[in-house]
Amino acid sequence: MAKKPLLEFTDSGIYCAQGRFYIDPWKPVDDAVITHAHSDHARWGNKRYLAHQLSQQVLLYRLGDIQLQTVEYGEKVMKNGVEISLYPAGHVIGSAQVRVCYQGEVWVVSGDYKLEDDGISTPFEPVRCHHFISECTFGMPVYKWKPQKHIFDDMNNWWCQNVKEGRASVIVGYSLGKAQRILQNLDLSIGKVYTHGVIENTNEALRRNGIGLKPTTRITIDTPKEEVRRGIILAPPSSVGTHWMRRFNPYDFGYCSGWMSIRGAKKRRAADRGFVLSDHADWDGLIAAIEATGCEKVYLTHGYTASFSRYLSQIGFDAHEVHTLFGDDEEGEEAAPTQPPPEGEALTSALTENAGPKHLTAENFKVSPSGGGLEGAL
Ligand SMILES: [Zn+2]
Ligand SMILES: [Zn+2]
Repeated sequence: MAKKPLLEFTDSGIYCAQGRFYIDPWKPVDDAVITHAHSDHARWGNKRYLAHQLSQQVLLYRLGDIQLQTVEYGEKVMKNGVEISLYPAGHVIGSAQVRVCYQGEVWVVSGDYKLEDDGISTPFEPVRCHHFISECTFGMPVYKWKPQKHIFDDMNNWWCQNVKEGRASVIVGYSLGKAQRILQNLDLSIGKVYTHGVIENTNEALRRNGIGLKPTTRITIDTPKEEVRRGIILAPPSSVGTHWMRRFNPYDFGYCSGWMSIRGAKKRRAADRGFVLSDHADWDGLIAAIEATGCEKVYLTHGYTASFSRYLSQIGFDAHEVHTLFGDDEEGEEAAPTQPPPEGEALTSALTENAGPKHLTAENFKVSPSGGGLEGAL
């Protein structure tokens, strides 16, 4: 009889039967190991949580009074004889890959990750393993990121120009990760940084966790508009098109997301400027990360799973597509589980002005033409 895999996919999430715990479960369970605090990975309702120490305050802020054990990177925790340890994923502050080891067999769950050192998250570290479960949000060759220095030079120049022309600068990115990455790379000799309440609450949680962020000023109804116009405003995606944002008129609105590399994405969000800035690995990054694990088998979750696993199989990997309920944090704040552009659309939309990522609902999420899944694969 075939040996039961150390990690398997269930209706509740990625499960280790031997250790009796889940990784980023999407239904409430007793023991949850959390890769990072984005809402599609850290959900409410689990009895016990295990996460990296730098996620502590954000998790408590987002999930309330939970039973949370925290660890440092590389620290080992035993659960029913199975060894668990976390390694940096470079995605957001406190984000981790989960290494699971039992009787010499090693599995790694990547969570979300990127390879570029963003200057604020602990940089990604490849972990050797037999089985690697990897995200592939941007697993299409069309996605290739420029070094962040280019993006932030552009952003600081754009801000300068707006100040000269008397317009406020509003920059949109999700509240955990993108907002702090932007903040740390802004040139504060240009002006002050103002924040939407959702972002400032997250900043406060991170500061409580000992993270040294640059100074920010929370926008309140009393904040003078003229003062804000010389600064830059960090806002979450949920504020786009709201009265809260319109009151800064005249303003220029910049949107930060990996999807901004697709022509048409900027237009659909009514952004004046699109900054191609992602906290996920691009095509080359994904392949480099997978190669660096030296894994025997790779399982692809959220993203272009079907085409990316086909490509990896062609270049000699034992690759399999799996279905999960992880969402798309590049798309928006606290977004419901969504799916990136259907297969092939990124390539065609790069050529057509109006096309771009279409997002399907959670109901549609499990319906995929190629099938397979982790259990089927094993
Ligand atoms: Zn994430
Ligand atoms: Zn994710």
